[in-house]
Amino acid sequence: MYKIAVAGTGYVGLVAGVTFAEVGHQVTCVDIDEEKVKVMKSGVSPIYEEGLEELMQKNYAAGRLEYTTDYKSAYKDADAIFIGVGTPEQPDGSANLSYIATVARQIAETIENDCLIVVKSTVPVGTNDKVEQFIQDFLINDVKVEVASNPEFLAQGSAVHDTLHAARIIIGTESKWAEERLTNIYEPFNLPIVSVNRRSAEMIKYASNDFLALKISYMNDIANLCELVGADVQDVAKGMSFDERIGSKFLNAGIGFGGSCFPKDTKALENLARQNGYDLKTVKAAIDVNKDQKTLLYNKASKRLITFNGLKVAVLGLTFKPGTDDLREAASLENIPLLLEKGADIYAFDPVGAENFAKVHPEGPISNGSITYVSNVEQALQDANVCFVFTEWGEVKAVTSEMYKDLMRTPLVYDGRNIYDVNEMEEAGVEYHSVGRPSTS
Ligand code: NAD
Repeated sequence: MYKIAVAGTGYVGLVAGVTFAEVGHQVTCVDIDEEKVKVMKSGVSPIYEEGLEELMQKNYAAGRLEYTTDYKSAYKDADAIFIGVGTPEQPDGSANLSYIATVARQIAETIENDCLIVVKSTVPVGTNDKVEQFIQDFLINDVKVEVASNPEFLAQGSAVHDTLHAARIIIGTESKWAEERLTNIYEPFNLPIVSVNRRSAEMIKYASNDFLALKISYMNDIANLCELVGADVQDVAKGMSFDERIGSKFLNAGIGFGGSCFPKDTKALENLARQNGYDLKTVKAAIDVNKDQKTLLYNKASKRLITFNGLKVAVLGLTFKPGTDDLREAASLENIPLLLEKGADIYAFDPVGAENFAKVHPEGPISNGSITYVSNVEQALQDANVCFVFTEWGEVKAVTSEMYKDLMRTPLVYDGRNIYDVNEMEEAGVEYHSVGRPSTS
């Protein structure tokens, strides 16, 4: 059992902290956000992730898990401090490392024992060398401190499962001491561990994420071509998926990738390449394709309709994917302002994301249109002139072609997630446009 502190209780930090407690470590989760800490202490998860709240309550009750804003008490005698604070994108595409620097300084001025600092946040290659030097420079006590890289691969929406059943744990260290301590911490998870040097670990994270982003953009590019030449991208993907070299995952065409990771990690790697005088053409292409894909539905509908002014527009799904309340880089955030500007009256449904969306676009008149948040798909669809599907929530997948036909004033549907069967929509008399598949009229 190790005494572990975790800096940052977002998707990565909180899930790491809770699962470390679950396997028997003594964990203190630190955040600067007092409200968040209060909420967590009351047994409530500040983020929506399946199974998280139960594990929080169980391990808190067992005395293995604490939450605090008092970083000094958490860091001073920890065996390991995991850093899971944000590394958001800056205007030039590079990663903002100021949150990491703040934690590094707090650690340097606090620790009283030998301590392994483990960076889980996604940081450009070479950052952890600098973090280690920075901590050494500000260290107050005469203790041993080393930095390890341990990038995180969880996907939002299945974060707890992904952590407890990870395909691999990547650890990047520069000494036997660090490697052994980190291996021991992960030993109870009983998962494959890949031990490499620090810079390779940092690169594995970007190379993996950007490969997946490339795969998505590639399929979206192919989907756009399928539409032009009369092929069906879903059939194409099915045919491709039988090839083991390609695999069946990440072949779904749609309106592009969002979330807090792929958009920023593609830009950060492209930026890192540029800083090093290298033109990373493949990743640049993935970024380009994704940018256009985000507003594909709006552009298609704009060509079809003479105006959005005064139309009732149903929006099904706001989050960047199902299973999360996260809106970062969601397609809805790109399309809805365009629709509002054109005077659309939007009726939006999302089972968990509406509250966060309303913080950005409050209910009522906005721009030249208005937005109303509704609690079920029927309310969104009733008498609507057009419907946009941005997220494949279960509730949205369950809408039948007959419901579109019967509830909407004009059954005109733009589906960014290729959820429905084209033939069923055709038979029901729904005008249906999706991505890379034939449209019905
Ligand atoms: P997040 O924005 O959800 O959470 C960050 C948390 O850190 C916030 O609660 C914030 O209040 C807290 N914080 C900021 N400064 C602090 C400080 N000095 N001390 C303590 N807490 C502090 O971030 P996230 O989505 O969990 O991402 C964290 C990192 O992990 C990023 O680098 C991200 O790229 C990477 N990552 C994220 C995911 C994901 O799916 N979200 C997956 C893999 C990797």
